[in-house]
Amino acid sequence: MSVNLRIPGPTPCPDDVLQAMSRQMINHRGPEFAEIVGRISDGLKQLFETKNDVLTLTSAGTGALESAVVNTLSPGDRALCVSIGNFGERFADIARTYGVGVEMLAFAKGTAADPAKVAEALRGDSSYKAVMVTHNETSTGVTNPLGEIAQAVREVRPDILILVDAISSLGSVPLPIDTWDLDVVFTGSQKGWMVPPGMAMVAVSKRAWDAAETAKIPRYYFDYKKAKSYLEKGQTPWTPAVSVYFAMDVALRTLLAEGLENIHARHARLGQLTRDGVRALGLRLLADEQVASNTVTAVWVPEGVDGAALNKMMRTEYHTVLAGGQGELTGKIFRIGHLGYVKEADIQACLDALKMALPRAGFSPSGVGASAR
Ligand SMILES: *Cc1c(COP(=O)(O)O)cnc(C)c1O
Repeated sequence: MSVNLRIPGPTPCPDDVLQAMSRQMINHRGPEFAEIVGRISDGLKQLFETKNDVLTLTSAGTGALESAVVNTLSPGDRALCVSIGNFGERFADIARTYGVGVEMLAFAKGTAADPAKVAEALRGDSSYKAVMVTHNETSTGVTNPLGEIAQAVREVRPDILILVDAISSLGSVPLPIDTWDLDVVFTGSQKGWMVPPGMAMVAVSKRAWDAAETAKIPRYYFDYKKAKSYLEKGQTPWTPAVSVYFAMDVALRTLLAEGLENIHARHARLGQLTRDGVRALGLRLLADEQVASNTVTAVWVPEGVDGAALNKMMRTEYHTVLAGGQGELTGKIFRIGHLGYVKEADIQACLDALKMALPRAGFSPSGVGASAR
């Protein structure tokens, strides 16, 4: 029996993507690789809805967070970090590590950021150089109203940098980078892109390129300027994860054929199916419905159930791998990923497995089941 991998990354990959990974190596400074890199960058621009430069880095997603900070900011600069969970905190941690003065604007877990509060924070202090924000908070299953946040930011500070962690949203849910006037926006191959881990993809605006000219944080591996000058030759500055590039080339062909609107509609349908199914089992969601994510759903572990034991039973007896909670939510929630290469049947199988496992794990859906916030 095959495993139903329902974590929010790495996500399952189609067979043709996996097969592309088994190809023999090629010269990463040769003409064939140049064609692949060019095709990937062009395909990503379409799916990112941007005319900005799109760079690919051989890295985990966290490398992209780091790259956004080191290429645009200087030690001593101030940044407003809008955080709704763990990945917002990680973005802030990275900036602090490099000497950026980070002001946190945090919202309760399960809720989204309030655009008016973001605008208010910017009005109160004109020294901020950047706003850092997570589009889709994978740790809580919440999608921020990024278009509204960006608009609120631009009304107060038309020229401030907006740096966006869109690792678990870009390519799966709507994120028109140019329409929303965002500066650095990035994702990772192992989330909605149906590709194994190893590639981070970053869109860089004119405003961000200007900032890079004066940004003083030391950088080498993640230097955007180097990445861009090599991209113009059809290369990357350092040896890339060649196999992951093969895989991305194939996956993008499939995604472009499906089309952005269909991809977004599929994720919206799967998100709704997951939320409806989980509620029908008598469980409660962590996220408010209006801001619930269409790529990952976080569910409160019901009273009387041991979250770790439930995940273990799902894995060992029902071949379904769920994600747990992170940080203070460890043991309190479990998460279901529904991004990338996923169909209704995969979600239905996951819900069916939960229906069988929950009572065995001690759940009685008699009304008092769901734990209070
Ligand atoms: C997965 C994820 C990351 C981290 O990506 P890694 O590849 O594990 O470094 C960061 N931010 C968000 C929103 C994510 O979903």
